[in-house]
Amino acid sequence: MTSENSLIYGQADLLAKGLQELATHDPELMGILDADVKRQHNTLSLVASCCAVKTRTLAASASVLVNVTAEGTPGRRYHAGCENVDLVESLAISRARQLFDAQYAGVQSHSASSANYQVLSAFLEPGDTLLGMSLDHGGHLTHGSPVTFSGSYYQAIGYGTTSQGLIDYDEVLKLARLHKPRLIICGATAYSRIVDFERFREIADEVGAILLADISHIAGLVATGRHPSPINAAHVTTTCTHKQLAGPRGGLIMSGRDANEMVPGRNKTFAASLEQSVFPWMQGAPAVNIIAAKAAAFGYAMSPEFDAYMERIRTAADTVAMAFQQKDYEVVGRKSENHTVLIRLRGDLTGAIAESALEKCGIIVNKNRVPGETRSAFVTSGLRIGTGSLAQRNLDPEGCLRVVDLICKILDEVKPLGDREYTLDPTMEQQFRAQAKALCVAFPLEDYTQP
Ligand SMILES: *Cc1c(COP(=O)(O)O)cnc(C)c1O
Repeated sequence: MTSENSLIYGQADLLAKGLQELATHDPELMGILDADVKRQHNTLSLVASCCAVKTRTLAASASVLVNVTAEGTPGRRYHAGCENVDLVESLAISRARQLFDAQYAGVQSHSASSANYQVLSAFLEPGDTLLGMSLDHGGHLTHGSPVTFSGSYYQAIGYGTTSQGLIDYDEVLKLARLHKPRLIICGATAYSRIVDFERFREIADEVGAILLADISHIAGLVATGRHPSPINAAHVTTTCTHKQLAGPRGGLIMSGRDANEMVPGRNKTFAASLEQSVFPWMQGAPAVNIIAAKAAAFGYAMSPEFDAYMERIRTAADTVAMAFQQKDYEVVGRKSENHTVLIRLRGDLTGAIAESALEKCGIIVNKNRVPGETRSAFVTSGLRIGTGSLAQRNLDPEGCLRVVDLICKILDEVKPLGDREYTLDPTMEQQFRAQAKALCVAFPLEDYTQP
């Protein structure tokens, strides 16, 4: 006699069955997915935000929890049937708190942009003033850019960097005294040096502002002690989970020593305000399958393996910065203290041309504005290079030198014909592409190849 349970597929069987059915019934979609697996293997990504999730995180994101509607928080749901979802969300929360030594962690935000808006709307009224890093100087869109919610619903003031590419803390203080923002945002998208969160807090305290630190780009370095932590320095810290944390696309909101303090002028704690600004204020039911993947990623981030990965990111950034300097490129800020290396291009070569030419040769980078920029954001005079993927490919310093060497050779070969137009000898292009591919084969993506 077969027991009732023997007919039920487990999570692993469901995934295997699903993949088989996708291949059989929807070869068109499966073909595209497979093509991108190949593309990810065969292109050298030096995008600073880029990172490949562990296969266990990939699997967790595809779990049957996708079927569960679970408005509310663990133990306080608006729906029945949430006992396993409660366990998963509680696990993700406790791992996030442990990983960052935070008092409060909220794991429901769908992205870091949503997380930032949730924090802003928790503490600001429309029209209130916020002070954030300008997009032009390395800040994120959500830190007050006029093309976003953050810059149109609030009075956004921007601070920038010096001609050396360093945050000008005296300017931040001056702007804070002048504009009296209710909230200050620190943390960046294109910045290669340590952010002094304590200094930001002093400035925030002096003008009575709430401090938000957005560590989307450096969360792994923070979690492993390679960058000072903002958890107790800022009132609130946000991050995405898909850059350095190697997790699914999503956001995370945390708070340290201020979590259970009252928000100035309100009858509510920081933690309670943050919780409500996610649900019901801005979101409905959470993506619980993604929360499961976040839990998997946080688990990995606490491992010695992840620590070694973060160490490789730092070593690679030092090597790459030094190698570009040896080839006579200016490294903005003179060096890297995280995973990002910003370089100023020379002569007629624009960021747009360099990005496009490198892409043709199988190397993915981002164009980026540099201090004293004269070209538009669509053209730019610099490149932003990140070492996350190089570290996931286990590139040793020698491998990193080969990458920089190849990039410089390509840039030398490009003939600019304007801001965006250029020529690149097709034979050379083919050779460069083959060399980039050879590097990808020599240094395969960890966890995505058979040992
Ligand atoms: C990437 C990034 C974000 C946005 O992340 P999404 O999850 O894509 O919305 C927010 N802040 C900073 C500093 C970032 O670098």
